[in-house]
Amino acid sequence: MQVLVIGAGVVGLAIARHAALAGHDVTVAEITGGIANGVSSRNSEVIHAGLYYPTETLRAKLCVRGRRMLYAYCTSRGVAHRKCGKLVVATNEAELAKVETILAQSQINGVEGVEMIGGNAARAMEAELFCIGALWSPETGIIDSHGYMRAMWGELEDQGGRIAFKTPVERMNYKAPQWHVHFGGSEACVLQFDAVVNAAGLGAQALARRIEGYPAGKVPRLVLGKGNYFGFAGKPAFSRLIYPTPIDGGLGVHVTLDLAGRMRFGPDVEWITEENYTVDPHRADSFYARVRTYFPALPDGTLVPDYAGIRPKLTGKGEGQADFMIAGPADHGMPRLVSLFGIESPGLTSSLAIAEDVVAYLSS
Ligand SMILES: Cc1cc2nc3c(=O)[nH]c(=O)nc-3n(C[C@H](O)[C@H](O)[C@H](O)COP(=O)(O)OP(=O)(O)OC[C@H]3O[C@@H](n4cnc5c(N)ncnc54)[C@H](O)[C@@H]3O)c2cc1C
Repeated sequence: MQVLVIGAGVVGLAIARHAALAGHDVTVAEITGGIANGVSSRNSEVIHAGLYYPTETLRAKLCVRGRRMLYAYCTSRGVAHRKCGKLVVATNEAELAKVETILAQSQINGVEGVEMIGGNAARAMEAELFCIGALWSPETGIIDSHGYMRAMWGELEDQGGRIAFKTPVERMNYKAPQWHVHFGGSEACVLQFDAVVNAAGLGAQALARRIEGYPAGKVPRLVLGKGNYFGFAGKPAFSRLIYPTPIDGGLGVHVTLDLAGRMRFGPDVEWITEENYTVDPHRADSFYARVRTYFPALPDGTLVPDYAGIRPKLTGKGEGQADFMIAGPADHGMPRLVSLFGIESPGLTSSLAIAEDVVAYLSS
């Protein structure tokens, strides 16, 4: 089939690569001038183990499967990563009960190696840490996400696929037996494809509304959950990822590390109505307070505004977590079209598993 994938983020690239390896002729259309200019360049670069997500949800299944596939991929393709492990820490009795719930959920989700450890054992691993107990997750890691995306782009091209940059998809309609896709940009044109994947991230809902005949009731609401990060101007205090217990809309302000060992804190959750990526320095106050519950020695004046990302959420404040939405022909009634909505965390970790499922949908 001639397959069009809309969006060159980590999910679109994984789908394009998988479709090309499956023998399809693949084109990726990307509105910006490069890969990974959307949500995929503004995240924590954590390979999640799959601890938290409710039983049998797509997030639970795709995260665990995707994580195993991602480690195998990184090893075989030489993508930089480190399985550094993660501690989810409890600083009081109420949090300890929450962490035990996460342990039970992670075991249901089939996550390998998770165990509860005491405060002393946690401090023996990380001397600067305060906690009364913690969940240890040895399968969690970090990845050079840009190296990963470049590797998939290379494979796509090796298979004869291509990415058209500065090529916005403006609208499309189905006229049997093909999709007629209207491209904007400097070389505006209409081209035909057998199958289309909408992997447009924050633009997925707007794009779905411009697909002629796409049922309006099947386009979910888009809620913007901004996550701010603060860098740490000091010698890194931890060598493993440290997470507090989750909060409404996110996993809590945690310690993330990059492959150079640099430490930063975030993301928090800020509900916004319009895209903006400015980090308000005043948010540092709440970061100091939260981080000091598990890193009491955090010195004053060490947090510096870093960057922000925006989660493409399907639910808002106080509404609980939504699952990923992968809408295929059975959901919206249109042939050989898959639309992805709400692919927030753990979308990076899940990308290879999402790709397998989406390509299977296209052929069904
Ligand atoms: C703060 C934050 C932290 C996160 N941390 C993690 C983490 O540690 N681990 C993890 O597994 N996941 C994490 N995630 C989730 C992960 O980053 C996302 O799930 C993933 O990047 C989504 O990729 P995508 O390809 O769907 O979207 P995007 O990367 O946004 O790609 C969509 C692309 O479509 C393009 N586009 C839009 N409209 C059009 C159009 N009409 N025509 C052509 N192109 C178009 C955009 O320019 C964009 O490049 C995090 C997310 C956030 C926001």
